[in-house]
Amino acid sequence: MTLQSVLDDLRKLPGTGAVIPVIDPVTEEPITEFTDCGPEAVDEAVSRARASFESGVWHAMPGRERAKIMWRIADLMDHYAEDLAQLDSLNTGMPLAQAQMIVPTCAEFFRYYAGWCTKVNGTAHEVQMTGGISGAYADMHAYTLKEPYGVVGLIFPWNGPVFNACAKIAPALAAGCSSIVKPAEETPLSALLLDRIIAEAGVPEGVVNLLNGYGYTAGAALTAHPDVEKVAFTGSTEVGKEIVRASAGNLKKVMLELGGKSPVLIYDDADLDMAIMMAAMGIFIHSGQGCVCGSRIFVQRGVYERVVEGIATVAKNLKLGGPEEEGAMISPLISAKQLTRVLGYLDEGKRDGVEIVTGGERLDRRGYFVQPTVLTNVDPATSRLYKEEIFGPVVTILPFDDDDEAVALANDTTYGLAATAWTTNLGRAHRIAKRLQAGTVTLNCQLVFDHAVPFGGYKQSGWGHEFGREGVEAYMQTKSVWAQL
Ligand code: NAD
Repeated sequence: MTLQSVLDDLRKLPGTGAVIPVIDPVTEEPITEFTDCGPEAVDEAVSRARASFESGVWHAMPGRERAKIMWRIADLMDHYAEDLAQLDSLNTGMPLAQAQMIVPTCAEFFRYYAGWCTKVNGTAHEVQMTGGISGAYADMHAYTLKEPYGVVGLIFPWNGPVFNACAKIAPALAAGCSSIVKPAEETPLSALLLDRIIAEAGVPEGVVNLLNGYGYTAGAALTAHPDVEKVAFTGSTEVGKEIVRASAGNLKKVMLELGGKSPVLIYDDADLDMAIMMAAMGIFIHSGQGCVCGSRIFVQRGVYERVVEGIATVAKNLKLGGPEEEGAMISPLISAKQLTRVLGYLDEGKRDGVEIVTGGERLDRRGYFVQPTVLTNVDPATSRLYKEEIFGPVVTILPFDDDDEAVALANDTTYGLAATAWTTNLGRAHRIAKRLQAGTVTLNCQLVFDHAVPFGGYKQSGWGHEFGREGVEAYMQTKSVWAQL
């Protein structure tokens, strides 16, 4: 299985819509192109998924057998790990070593969720009530069943193509759903190989169906489709709201993993060297294109200057470059569109009199590279770049004096994806964790993840959870069964 064969296959995909170029963000040159699948292909994919679901070929297969197939997917992903890493690295510009680290984690989604195939159960209930229309509840029994929703649409962005795909496909398979998978139009490559792997592992035809196309065509048609029971979406809050509106037709269930503007609190008693390094990497890694990136840093006043200087020093020393460039740690932005967006925020900040401690410009070279940028003197009340998700290597740093001020600043956002506190005061760390309005709080660490730990957003960062038991139950509905004994 070579990289070239995936590129060739993508070109040959049938479609009726526009031709979509796949651009290398490092060179700005086209890698390949494909045709938007068009609306008929969405209908066909939903029909295939529906037929596979109704036949029971997957969800009625004993859990232990489904689990074996899911383990085979993981084993095959290990086998093709280098290809998957190369595809993601080529498509996103991320350092190959980074992609090589991520792919084995993605395979583990299938091993982790394989375990749940035999472990998601309903519950049995002692009926406690007395009275009722039939006279009495004596000798009644009630229990619940966990059943797959049926046909689900899985839509995700470009920032971690293999990761985002596996995070959705694995729990959907464990739950017994049949799915339609819609990767981002910018990054279709690795999903194609993953699709082949899923078939090679023995997932029956029609259970996982890949669709390639734009969001406003393929994604929108999938979301509005009357025969899709649930959409699981990862992407921007703006599109998340469109998904909610489009899903109203058949009131399909919606899971949303959306954007963030995550706060990082650094106290004067923190391990400052560690906090500075992690807070810097927590925003600049992958050029800030991570949903949990800590884009608003708040520092206790006594150590403010030191932390600003420390983070700026890390920023200046990070080497940006493509996968081929020696020592490059930081990838480019994904697209010209994203570059324009990030530079637009920076221009606006300059006009508003924001202080640029370091960065603030596009790199003087080919590729969508923006300097890691540290900003201070930002007005929280009016600054758009402080309030809105930029999804680029841009961080604002502001001082605070005490817990109340830190919490108020941190929570003053419409988002609620993640939050971090750096402090060696254990009691304060946990008190702050309770007060931060975010679905994930990390204490003295950042960028942590485990397949078993639920992940989801508060406020406008999402609905529902991925990972862990919640992650598989998200693809299941609960039926209550009553019986007179
Ligand atoms: P996006 O919302 O523009 O696109 C995401 C996906 O949705 C793509 O596949 C796209 O084709 C599709 N899409 C676009 N318009 C659509 C529509 N009208 N109907 C259906 N589908 C549509 O997001 P993006 O710019 O590709 O990704 C960046 C965003 O994703 C950021 O906001 C980031 O925070 C978020 N994100 C969130 C998480 C999380 O777990 N919370 C993880 C990664 C990224």
